[in-house]
Amino acid sequence: MRITVVGGGVIGLLTAIECVRAAGVDRVDLVDAGPIPSPSATSNDRLRVVRALHRGDPALTQAAAPAHAGWMDVEERIGSRFYHAAGALTAMPVRDAAAELAILTAAGAKAWALSPDDLASRYPRIRFPDGTGAVLEATAGVVLADHALVALARWLVRRPEVRLHPHRRAVEISQNDRVVMIRFADGGSHTADRVVMAAGPWSRELVPAAIASDLTLYRQTVLSYQPPAWLRDWAGMPAVLGLGPGSDAWLMPTVPQSDAPLRLSAASACRPVAEMTDRVPPDQWREHLVGVFSEVLPAFDPAAVVDATDGFYLAERTRGGPLLATYGAGTVLAYAACGGMSFKFAPQIARAIADRAVGASPRPTGLDSVDRPRQLAAVGEE
Ligand SMILES: Cc1cc2nc3c(=O)[nH]c(=O)nc-3n(C[C@H](O)[C@H](O)[C@H](O)COP(=O)(O)OP(=O)(O)OC[C@H]3O[C@@H](n4cnc5c(N)ncnc54)[C@H](O)[C@@H]3O)c2cc1C
Repeated sequence: MRITVVGGGVIGLLTAIECVRAAGVDRVDLVDAGPIPSPSATSNDRLRVVRALHRGDPALTQAAAPAHAGWMDVEERIGSRFYHAAGALTAMPVRDAAAELAILTAAGAKAWALSPDDLASRYPRIRFPDGTGAVLEATAGVVLADHALVALARWLVRRPEVRLHPHRRAVEISQNDRVVMIRFADGGSHTADRVVMAAGPWSRELVPAAIASDLTLYRQTVLSYQPPAWLRDWAGMPAVLGLGPGSDAWLMPTVPQSDAPLRLSAASACRPVAEMTDRVPPDQWREHLVGVFSEVLPAFDPAAVVDATDGFYLAERTRGGPLLATYGAGTVLAYAACGGMSFKFAPQIARAIADRAVGASPRPTGLDSVDRPRQLAAVGEE
């Protein structure tokens, strides 16, 4: 069986690896519109957080609990280090901490609750409002995402059954007699028995209109923050979430293997947009985050914001998260929406997509939109 994966972000790379490992696959092709990995892929950032807790959502927390071990397992298989088990701290009203801790521990995560006094003494550089407690997940961390993508691509390059095709933008996918044809912007074409599309926020250009019309594009601003003593003061911190006036701001720490500045953002800096344009944040959104973090970090210095960029992702309109779709009698699988948390789930999602691609029984992810993909009868048909 010949499988072609379109898109070399974290989902495409890991799916290609899973296909190589599956029985009965003779050839895996991975195509990307840019280099592999591409600097413009959503996945190609310095850090991505892996944590289980989704407040008030035991099912999603249960689904996310294996992500920590999943990333350590990927490291093991690839023979490279890019996961840093820094932990994740979620701030919340102290009265909620016991219930959230119970959800986490029931899901198998290792975690404990912190009191307001614990927070004040352990994290003096963060301002927590009165009455704020937290849950600290030990089985959580951050992936050095850009390092991970390079390691995954290198692993694939070494496999004789794999071909990487950078700088080939797919413009059309069609299906005929159980063979799938991909047409490229350069006029060329390519056929495969199965095609997996994992084109991230560009997916609307490739999937049938019936799917594309159900996807919303989001744009989120992130600040890079490097105060003078940042390495000394911030190294060894967990990822911190639940911050700020809306309890929706987050801080990604710096980690020992990386000289990346702190990354600061908030759900309130995420907005629906019509198109992907540039990645330069409008002043309004940069200023919004400066306002939020002036409240969160007592010593916040706007002059230490060394960069600000926007990232994009697609989400399914009704459930707001990822979306897997199959069509062309199951010969085409499209990870049509990556959602705002697919990086941590990527090892699980890639395994489930590869299972479907090779005709094996798909291992469950706990994500309804992946375990029960949307099915279209054929390309262009509902
Ligand atoms: C600001 C921000 C913070 C985030 N933080 C987290 C986090 O902490 N934890 C987490 O789990 N998730 C997080 N996410 C979400 C996560 O990063 C994404 O869900 C994930 O990286 C998507 O990966 P992907 O492989 O599906 O897409 P991408 O990484 O975008 O890859 C898509 C690839 O497809 C290629 N491509 C596109 N069109 C074509 C075409 N026509 N032909 C060929 N190739 C094509 C692109 O060049 C690209 O390389 C965050 C997202 C944002 C925006």
